[in-house]
Amino acid sequence: MLKEAPSARDRNDEADTSASSAKTAKAAATFVKPREIVHADAVVALREDIRAKLVYAIGKTPEAARERDWFAATALALRDRIVDARDRAQAGTVPDKRVYYLSLEFLIGRLLSDAMNNLGLVETTRAALRDLGIDLADVEGAEPDAALGNGGLGRLAACFMESMASLSIPAVGYGIRYDHGIFRQSLENGWQREAPETWLAEGNPWEFARPEATYTIGFGGHVTMTSQGDHHIRRHWHPAETVNAVAYDVPIVGWKAKHVNVLRLWKAEADAPVELARFNAGDHVGAVAGRARAEAISRVLYPSDSSAEGQELRLRQEFFFTSASLQDLVRRHVAERGSLRSLPDHAAIQLNDTHPAIAVPELMRILMEDHDLPWEDAWQITTHTLHYTNHTLLPEALETWPVELMERLLPRHMQIIYLINWLHLEEQSKNARSGAFDVSTVSLIDETHGRRVRMGPLAFHGSRRVNGVSALHSELLKSTVFKDLHAIEPEKIINKTNGITFRRWLHNANPELTALAVEAAGEGVLDDPTLLERLVPFADDADFRKRYAAMRKARKERLAQVIAERTGVTVDPSALFDVQIKRIHEYKRQLLNLIETVALYQAIKQAPHKDWTPRVKIFAGKAAPSYVQAKLIIKLAGDIANVVNNDPEIGDRLKVVFLPNYSVSLAEVIIPAADLSEQISTAGMEASGTGNMKLALNGALTVGTLDGANIEIKDHVGAENIFIFGLDAEGVLARVKEPDYAAKAIAASARLAAALDAIGNGTFSPDDPGRFAPLVDELRHGDRYLTTVDFEDYWRVQREIDAAWKRPAQWWRAAILNTARMAWFSSDRSMREYAEEIWRVKVA
Ligand SMILES: *Cc1c(COP(=O)(O)O)cnc(C)c1O
Repeated sequence: MLKEAPSARDRNDEADTSASSAKTAKAAATFVKPREIVHADAVVALREDIRAKLVYAIGKTPEAARERDWFAATALALRDRIVDARDRAQAGTVPDKRVYYLSLEFLIGRLLSDAMNNLGLVETTRAALRDLGIDLADVEGAEPDAALGNGGLGRLAACFMESMASLSIPAVGYGIRYDHGIFRQSLENGWQREAPETWLAEGNPWEFARPEATYTIGFGGHVTMTSQGDHHIRRHWHPAETVNAVAYDVPIVGWKAKHVNVLRLWKAEADAPVELARFNAGDHVGAVAGRARAEAISRVLYPSDSSAEGQELRLRQEFFFTSASLQDLVRRHVAERGSLRSLPDHAAIQLNDTHPAIAVPELMRILMEDHDLPWEDAWQITTHTLHYTNHTLLPEALETWPVELMERLLPRHMQIIYLINWLHLEEQSKNARSGAFDVSTVSLIDETHGRRVRMGPLAFHGSRRVNGVSALHSELLKSTVFKDLHAIEPEKIINKTNGITFRRWLHNANPELTALAVEAAGEGVLDDPTLLERLVPFADDADFRKRYAAMRKARKERLAQVIAERTGVTVDPSALFDVQIKRIHEYKRQLLNLIETVALYQAIKQAPHKDWTPRVKIFAGKAAPSYVQAKLIIKLAGDIANVVNNDPEIGDRLKVVFLPNYSVSLAEVIIPAADLSEQISTAGMEASGTGNMKLALNGALTVGTLDGANIEIKDHVGAENIFIFGLDAEGVLARVKEPDYAAKAIAASARLAAALDAIGNGTFSPDDPGRFAPLVDELRHGDRYLTTVDFEDYWRVQREIDAAWKRPAQWWRAAILNTARMAWFSSDRSMREYAEEIWRVKVA
């Protein structure tokens, strides 16, 4: 599919770009010229600040300090500069309108490179540490990832926070300060093992504890009614149990330090850390039991991605952080403006998925109970302040809570939900337009599986705007999950395609490519990614292509080292690096990739002397601990790797690697080294994807289905610069209605049948031949994700990719065009659109 090379000369020039060449790798490194002007006095000042932090805040001498201590000292010195930047830019000003971004997850990763880059102090910090005899890279490596999220949803929230700061959009992010973020994954005999992650074990130098910002969060209890002289009945909630939410603020500095926002994370603390009466009576354990129960709320992040677990503690987490955040923003509004009637003019609240959907009744409750507003006014304010982003159509991911649990844990909220629902259904049954339709389809209560509150419809009904996260996903919202609600309010659903922050995923993660972009497009490209378009003509410049390829080669050599260190497998950096990195989920179809790996292995064995394109298949991703099939898929990857990597007939033609503990930091190492980006979800199931954007921006060519943002990536980079295969969303809907589609697909493909037989009969698991029978049986008899149906077309496009790799001029041309045309996927663009079309806040 790739376009012809511009000339035969180029082809000859570049015949060797895939071969190892230390010289070109070195040449790429010399592209990295510090753009930052380093002032000697700034270096001295920072050096002395870091030294002082080490000695006086950390309490260590330079001789005794570990890398982790140097990291903390450096972070503290930079944090001072972030505070100064905030005071310079915003001191004493009250913004006209603030955005409040409520998210149960923020998958931040490390903050040091963000902070240095946005402060314009990367080289200054490097020089200051060098003066102290310390290497910046070691200090960066000592920072633990803030991994307060599972995957794409949490990473999106982190990208949005960085972009809002960079665009000077006044914003507060609200979430939970989990003691333990997403678990640390290790492999034991190829099986996933989970260990607690301990990012706070040595404190967090970026945060400010704000004990003065503490709110009381209630649970359980009962509701009373009073009637005052005005004949209005007022209801009062008397919680049986209360927990304190204590604020911790992480400042988020924007590009060039023009603006600083705050990420406010809530920690759960007991009202009374010790029940003294019980303690004094000798009940030492009972005296602290309440404390353990209260603090459990912010103890650990739920490790399930794209599935709702429905545990009571999860509902407690959701209500805890939502209530604290609403109380905080209401208090701020009242302090600044007085009347809550103007809340929608000065606050826009964005709900990241339904996790904070309890905001609908909680804001109503605060307005009515704490501020004495009548129902109609409270409803008007609520529905003009809240906005909701939907992230999935998968039925197992749509949150519902049993009415019984809600009544027990949040009795007042359940009453409010009932009244909202009653008014809503009354309106619909009166509404002539809705004619014959069945109001139960738009009810906020699902009565089909016991009575449950549907959080999606609740968030939809309580919000001013509802958005999907890619063009396809937003259309599917209208035709599937919210079909009937959409018919009632056709203006409500809009699309806001996701984005990624280029400052992390290009500038910081890939300084070599950034240097090339600056050279070709000018310094302005750092401020305005649309200038990447200026790289387009360079795609036809053989010399530029060579340097682009050399950049990639250097990054692949580095990744090869990491692979060797962490897995013991040696890979050849001149092979095609084929990368699938994301949560392990059946809809993402790592299994499709693994079956193709097996089929390729069998094909190489049958024709070992054919001119195979050498490939390294690289996988990384965590499985939810309770997700049996996903964990088996990880084991399968490891078992295939053991056989393939140790088969002397295969050599370097095929290697398979599963890198443990996928994280933001690991993503930053893998992405710049990827040649091929696997985005192969069943069409209609990946809401957007953002890994696809990071990889394409860094010049990996995508092999993908017409799903989520892949469709828009194709539109931007051009159909000739991406490898599309498989059924589209419509095709999927049609195919699942056909009987025995999997059996038919297997019968039609000898290659697929042979690969499935090998996996199913124990070829890769001789110690336990039946190990993978559950995976293969599911494909043969169910195949909900149409893996078998898409296999043949996937095989076809992979062989097309093999051929394309052998034409380096075209390959690197396409790669450069990917980088050049990805600007639209900047989260700055996403945030500008939200600001203008949803929040109606000014962007500087
Ligand atoms: C970007 C990112 C994701 C999301 O990847 P998808 O391919 O869109 O699912 C998940 N985890 C991490 C660490 C990421 O950086």
